[in-house]
Amino acid sequence: MILISPVTANPMRRIEFNGIELDVCPDTGGIWFDQGELGDLLHGRREDFENLDREAKPEGRIDVESRTESARYCPRCNVPLYRYRYLHSTPIELDGCEGCGGVFVDDGELGAIAAVARRVGGRRLLPEEAAAALAELHVAEETYRTQWTLVEKASRTLMIRIRPRI
Ligand SMILES: [Zn+2]
Repeated sequence: MILISPVTANPMRRIEFNGIELDVCPDTGGIWFDQGELGDLLHGRREDFENLDREAKPEGRIDVESRTESARYCPRCNVPLYRYRYLHSTPIELDGCEGCGGVFVDDGELGAIAAVARRVGGRRLLPEEAAAALAELHVAEETYRTQWTLVEKASRTLMIRIRPRI
């Protein structure tokens, strides 16, 4: 059975990963996990996240940065997916199906989960640890972005100053 992407409604690509069959949206890199599959992966080795993220890299160029507000549908049950926060309080938003218990993970979200996993080592995550780590990660990214903007501004000024006179 070919599943269709909840984002684009195009057919998804089936990949095998650690003995689990997963369906990947070729345009956005999002991954569909049937019930229990995401949990199995979460409790496995953390290197697996990076590998899977690479494996599921989008082939297309559909921008999913700004998440569409149009409803997404379960590729198995064809009912609307509900959006929820991973571990309740993290910034990672996932789309779940109440019918079959499947989860759709957008491209990059797996990376965010991996960042938390790396921080706490091979241990199982406590929900509050994950929440704290992700909050920190979020702050770090914000700081980085602000600093980068400053660097860019500074280098632009510098370029104007050092530009040779003709
Ligand atoms: Zn479903």
